[in-house]
Amino acid sequence: MELPNIVQAGQMVLRARAAEVPTEALGSKDLLDLVRVMVSVMRAAPGVGLAAPQIGVSARVIVLEDHEDLMTRLAPSDRKVRGRVAFPLRVIVNPELRFVGEERATFFEGCLSVGGYMGLVERARAVSVTGVDEMGEPVQWEVSGWPARILQHEVDHLDGTLYVDRMFTRSFCANEEAGEWINRPIGEVKKLLGV
Ligand code: ZN
Repeated sequence: MELPNIVQAGQMVLRARAAEVPTEALGSKDLLDLVRVMVSVMRAAPGVGLAAPQIGVSARVIVLEDHEDLMTRLAPSDRKVRGRVAFPLRVIVNPELRFVGEERATFFEGCLSVGGYMGLVERARAVSVTGVDEMGEPVQWEVSGWPARILQHEVDHLDGTLYVDRMFTRSFCANEEAGEWINRPIGEVKKLLGV
């Protein structure tokens, strides 16, 4: 299967509110095909989440998945502080997100549509999402830590928002240029960057 490219910042589809998926489309071949392509693109990247606008499709569909192989560069302590845990593939159509509690967490995040860069983004530590899967079965997921960050990032895509809109702008950096300082505790990193 030839995979579509991941569109990069500058493509207007990333800045539009994606269209609701109508009820009659649930379970349709078109939607199942879209989800299959999205999952393949996410895995090939590799990434831990993808929203339909990232392959140029304005539809409220996100896919998420994280597994051990993608975490090997993270020290166990870094995994713990981020709450980064493996979870199986999730497909959510027309997601509705709400924050759970007041706690916030700040970490570097990147985006396949802003290739090669990252920035510090403060997000809710825990969220709850509802929606349906590609067959129309209800989905309800309450989660904290890194999966909650991925969810917020992907739902943002459906509203035309990129992480660069939310980041501490002084923290924006090219992945290749980030030095050892990036591994220091986040409070220190913020101080170093002046954010
Ligand atoms: Zn993204």
